[in-house]
Amino acid sequence: MKILVATKKAFAPLAIRQIREVIEAAGFNLEVLENYGNISELLKAVSGTDGLIVRSDMITAEVIDAAKKLKIVVRAGAGYDNIDLASCTSHNIVAMNTPGQNSNAVAELAFEMLLFQVRGGFSGKQGTELRLKSIGLHGFGNVGKYVADIAKGFGMDIYAYDPLVSERIMKNHGVKQCSNSKELYSKCQYISIHLPSNNITRKSIGYDLLSVMPKNAILINTARKEVIDETGLLKTFEERNDICYLADVEPDCKNVFDEKYKGRYIFTAKKMGAQTEEANINAGVAAVRQIVDFFKTGNEKYRINK
Ligand code: NAD
Repeated sequence: MKILVATKKAFAPLAIRQIREVIEAAGFNLEVLENYGNISELLKAVSGTDGLIVRSDMITAEVIDAAKKLKIVVRAGAGYDNIDLASCTSHNIVAMNTPGQNSNAVAELAFEMLLFQVRGGFSGKQGTELRLKSIGLHGFGNVGKYVADIAKGFGMDIYAYDPLVSERIMKNHGVKQCSNSKELYSKCQYISIHLPSNNITRKSIGYDLLSVMPKNAILINTARKEVIDETGLLKTFEERNDICYLADVEPDCKNVFDEKYKGRYIFTAKKMGAQTEEANINAGVAAVRQIVDFFKTGNEKYRINK
């Protein structure tokens, strides 16, 4: 049984070591393709593999077509918008993610960016404190819950909007429920986005929501750039000189920010949310355990395609 780890952005070496230990203990073989530059390398590597572990790598219909023996692909991470699920299903391939394994890393990054921004980028300028300020969580899944727990430590007033999470669960995390996204954006000084990218959420955050945010608002996006309507974002920045945008990965309109809005944004050059050794190990080891379990017992607990 051959298991391929194919990662354009390599895992931490310790994560690979632990993945190897799990694979060897199961009597399988590990192949590693890291930092590949070209899709042809991926197409060649997947051709003889039974199981595949990826990170943000694009697993398109072309990759699935080339993977003639593939039975299971696991996205070591939460978001799975990089995997063509319909293609997996039509080839009888099980697709999974590893929910929750990198959530703390992402939540910490959201806070790291927020702290840096409210202290004026450590420039010596007067900043503001987080205590008693309001933070709104747009999406209250694994990452949203970690952000709430951190915000509680800062003495913040915490709100969330998530139609799939009950008021009771929010209350257990010290969070007040909003009944729609507009209420959340109009109430909260800071908004942290934790939505998946899908047909409903793509470009769903634009002028309507951003323009109602309070004075000196900060929008933090560690989810996906695709959930933002960048036309609406730019229109809001055009009209208001108090709003800031902090994002894990640059928006397509980054050059406009570079030209006009210096000091009012932070964009990571590459996706950084899950880039900690701990998150790499958690997600990588969870992924390989799910694969071994799938082959040994048929367990499909974290399946994301039907
Ligand atoms: P999750 O699935 O645990 O939580 C997502 C939550 O969003 C769910 O509770 C869901 O009910 C809610 N939701 C879905 N549609 C909604 C809508 N229209 N309005 C309000 N709420 C809605 O996912 P997570 O682990 O918390 O991660 C959130 C997102 O963060 C992921 O989908 C992924 O895109 C992104 N992410 C980024 C990084 C990174 O490196 N920056 C790492 C992990 C995850």
